[in-house]
Amino acid sequence: MMAAAQPETIFEIKRSSIYFCRKAKERIQLGKGFFGVVFKGHYKGEKVAVKIVQDGSMNPQDFLNEAQIMRTMEHPNIIKLLAVCTKKEPIYIITELMKKGSLLEYLKKNRQTLDISHQIEMAVQVACGMDYLENNLYIHRDLAARNVLVGENVYKVADFGLARVLIKAPSDSPNSQYYRVIEGVCLPIRWTAPDAIVSNRFTIKNDVWSFGILLYEIMTFGMEPYANIKNNNKLIKRVTGGYRMPCPRDCPENMYQIMSACWMMQENDRPLFESLHTMLSDLQ
Ligand code: ADP
Ligand code: MG
Repeated sequence: MMAAAQPETIFEIKRSSIYFCRKAKERIQLGKGFFGVVFKGHYKGEKVAVKIVQDGSMNPQDFLNEAQIMRTMEHPNIIKLLAVCTKKEPIYIITELMKKGSLLEYLKKNRQTLDISHQIEMAVQVACGMDYLENNLYIHRDLAARNVLVGENVYKVADFGLARVLIKAPSDSPNSQYYRVIEGVCLPIRWTAPDAIVSNRFTIKNDVWSFGILLYEIMTFGMEPYANIKNNNKLIKRVTGGYRMPCPRDCPENMYQIMSACWMMQENDRPLFESLHTMLSDLQ
């Protein structure tokens, strides 16, 4: 008799199969963010990042369903989801390790050595990853420099889909000031298109708006968007009324035109990621 077919990959894994790297007995922390704490580890002989999600911030079953879709996304500019632990809280999310951490920190740390050709390269690669998600009808919902990770000359989009399954905003985490819960949905206000905030309806065109904000972050080496408008409600009013951020210092006019196109009021007037990718590649 033939043996039953083995599942291709074991996706839900035992916690004990993850090894946490340690220094002086302490787990090595890669970062702390909105979704929880991220540690360095090993899984099946591979270096990985293990995100430990704060209890109560997601429904494990909803997350597992979403993770089944996330795992099918494979592209050089998309973070690979390797495995999950969802049977008990806290939820573990195991992804490939990205040596240089988040793009936001990378931009801030390396502004002296980065030049426009690096900035265009970052934009091209993120657009390429997002073009792939767009083609696969997958909406990110939380595209921002904090959610792009950096490796050796490679930039990958991370944390896609997580905002959709978030049920509670962890309050004491860094970056929590950027998120607001509106009608049960957690929104990064400064990265979200005004129409999506108002209607609570998300399309890839909201991701395109967020991509424009991400271009702004790239061109300013990680400045906070709309830094001069502290109050979020005031910000929503201003942006709905047509206010847009001015061209950053030293940002080429053609790059500013691309980010401005992402911020068109009507979502149908915003470009597709496919054409953003082409337009940005033309700047190289
Ligand atoms: P946020 O998106 O709010 O910054 P995250 O929980 O997604 O929070 O991640 C926290 C930090 O951990 C990131 O800013 C980054 O520095 C680090 N990090 C997350 N995932 C990885 C990874 N796969 N490889 C390396 N570092 C990571
Ligand atoms: Mg993140």
